[in-house]
Amino acid sequence: MVIECKHVWAHISGYLDQTLPPEVLEQVQKHLEHCEICSAILDSTRNILILTADERFLNCRLGLVSGCMLGWRRRCGVGT
Ligand SMILES: [Zn+2]
Repeated sequence: MVIECKHVWAHISGYLDQTLPPEVLEQVQKHLEHCEICSAILDSTRNILILTADERFLNCRLGLVSGCMLGWRRRCGVGT
């Protein structure tokens, strides 16, 4: 059975979590071997997971956001 891109997309999170049943995993892997679009989507999804799983990165982003909010509030004279 040949699966289409949309089927692969539905399985991407399971693929990355390694929770797919062996027969589905095999189909997804076969598809990824010849489909550049799905390979690219898989790569970017994996990158996002790595970035969001990295706590230091997340804290850094949160720090940036609250820093910007503080600067913005000062500039607008809010909360002074
Ligand atoms: Zn595909």
